[in-house]
Amino acid sequence: MNDFLFTLPETNLFFGSGTLLQLGTRAKRHGTKALLVTGKSSMKRLGFLDVAKKSLEDAGIDVVLFEGVEPNPSCQTIDEGTEIGLKNECDMVVAIGGGSAIDAAKVMAVGIGHNDVNAWQYVLCTKETTDKTLPIIAIPSTSGTGSHVTWYTVVTNRDTDEKSAYSSKFIYPKESIVDLDIVAQMPKKVTAETGFDALAHVMEAYISNQQNPITDLLSMRAIKLIGKNLVHAYESGDEEARHAMALADTYAGICITTSRTIMVHGIGNTVSGVYPNITHGQALACLTPPIMRFNIVNGDENTVARYCDIAEALGEEITKTDKQNALKSVDAVIDLLKKIDLSKGFKEFGVDDAGIEKMTDFSLEHGRGAISCNPVEPTREDIIKIYKEAL
Ligand code: NDP
Ligand code: MN
Repeated sequence: MNDFLFTLPETNLFFGSGTLLQLGTRAKRHGTKALLVTGKSSMKRLGFLDVAKKSLEDAGIDVVLFEGVEPNPSCQTIDEGTEIGLKNECDMVVAIGGGSAIDAAKVMAVGIGHNDVNAWQYVLCTKETTDKTLPIIAIPSTSGTGSHVTWYTVVTNRDTDEKSAYSSKFIYPKESIVDLDIVAQMPKKVTAETGFDALAHVMEAYISNQQNPITDLLSMRAIKLIGKNLVHAYESGDEEARHAMALADTYAGICITTSRTIMVHGIGNTVSGVYPNITHGQALACLTPPIMRFNIVNGDENTVARYCDIAEALGEEITKTDKQNALKSVDAVIDLLKKIDLSKGFKEFGVDDAGIEKMTDFSLEHGRGAISCNPVEPTREDIIKIYKEAL
């Protein structure tokens, strides 16, 4: 067996129905004044924002609200939040919402902790994220990004259309509260898009050249869970299926911290920066089948065998470990995408040749890390060809 490194998240994870009520108790060991960060309107409308605020206040914690984080959060919005946190002398940051609210809150915690309103510099790592970062508490409202257990954040620069991810051990949430009653409220489209994000994470974790026996165990289990439950969660909103998706999302986050993601995220993250009308999950849905094909056709024996495992986990019958059987994994994914209404092409969203050039350049800059984990190294031409196949 090869040597491997597995990074354990530095996060207390609290998982179950109604767990949001424990927020105050869990938060009070980390500070006395919280910047409470959320998205545009869903958490307020559904009443969870009030529950979170009350739970913090009941535990003696002062609350300063920052609402309005947009999907694919921008460094400009993060800087606004950092300023408010600094002005009010907040000593911890609590996020309730989707991956966007959590990712934004992570970088606000960095900025407030370093007394520095400069999110983009931290994302680019031209400024160092240190242990001055404020404690972060994450309450996910979607089941897809895994951000509540990852050391990643993904940020968009509205001035340049760049979207970039970075990691630091200081942005692990200290506490992560997965309340199944919150994720149960996801609208259908969000269930599909975030559920596919989780599937992409674990398929990528299983294929990445940074995989190891522990990420293999978690990712295989999550692929099976998602294969069994995503369509049910989408079609009927079935409670058990939604709970299984929340668990799979958590496994996925734990996996990608160590295994990282591959070319799908390497060239997929960039998409929503240049085309904000394309959600993260939809971008991955367009790119996953062509990249799976590319990796199977050009991959070595081990890669082919791993795609056969994925096909089997998604319910396909594998008769032999070869490329033809491995391609059944692509059929399974295409079939799943149809069932959750994500089998669309980039063309529908206005992607053109000029956009593809721009996304390719940004991906080669910001997605280098994930691209380097791909089992087959793509050339610039390969990347352009894959974007075009996704049209
Ligand atoms: P968002 O957080 O962008 O939310 C998408 C939409 O869903 C919003 O309109 C939001 O509304 C709504 N919504 C969220 N939860 C609920 C709910 N329970 N009920 C009703 N509506 C809801 O979506 P994602 O979670 O997919 O996050 C995507 C971001 O995460 C991307 O920027 C992506 O790149 C990033 N990401 C981060 C990773 C990480 O490790 N840090 C990994 C993978 C992706 P409202 O705004 O009103 O709340
Ligand atoms: Mn993702």
